[in-house]
Amino acid sequence: MFNIAEKFISINGEGKSCGQLAVFIRFSGCNLDCSYCDTDWARDAEAYTQQMSAEEIYDYIKHTGINNVTLTGGEPLLQEDMRELLDILSEDNSLNIEIETNGGISLEKFTDMDRQRICFTMDYKLPYSAMEDHMEVDNFKYLTKNDVVKFVVSGEKDLIRGKEIIDKYDLTDMTNVYFSSAFGSIDLEEIVNFMKENKMNETNLQVQLHKVIWSPDERGV
Ligand code: SF4
Repeated sequence: MFNIAEKFISINGEGKSCGQLAVFIRFSGCNLDCSYCDTDWARDAEAYTQQMSAEEIYDYIKHTGINNVTLTGGEPLLQEDMRELLDILSEDNSLNIEIETNGGISLEKFTDMDRQRICFTMDYKLPYSAMEDHMEVDNFKYLTKNDVVKFVVSGEKDLIRGKEIIDKYDLTDMTNVYFSSAFGSIDLEEIVNFMKENKMNETNLQVQLHKVIWSPDERGV
């Protein structure tokens, strides 16, 4: 069974299908403790509002009529039976599946899946998060052009470290790279200026659309 903190339909506020409708399944429980966590209430593994089987989650998704599926958290890959759920979802050709993972869990056991249908948006936690030591840099070798590495930046130190990591691992050659701001902690203009000064071709600035449309603290959006 899966521990579900919330499930809802909304606009995808980030990632490659940003601006499109998506059905979100938020799982409870997280192995990290980021300084800027905006879903702190879902970090506790016991913070679930319901438990569902893989089949029940699939039925719910189909019932919504929405094709983009975002599995998020907390940390979705902590759910013991995630592989079973991904196998069921990826058998349905109409679904586009995105998994938002925090970079602190190995992706190795998911590498043999249909990676055209299942995309990972993997965070790389920067210094301000205080979680960089937990990053599984081996994960980079499992990413494809269908995946995303997202750097949430809170200040200049994060921008500099993010660029170091992008360069060290040639991330823009391997996958899609996004800079996103920890909401309210850095001017978007500062991020753009940094990108300009450093000629950061093929890096994308991402604005969290759901926090522009609704209050940054709003749940279920
Ligand atoms: S990984 Fe996500 S859910 Fe976990 S502490 Fe960090 S921001 Fe919060």
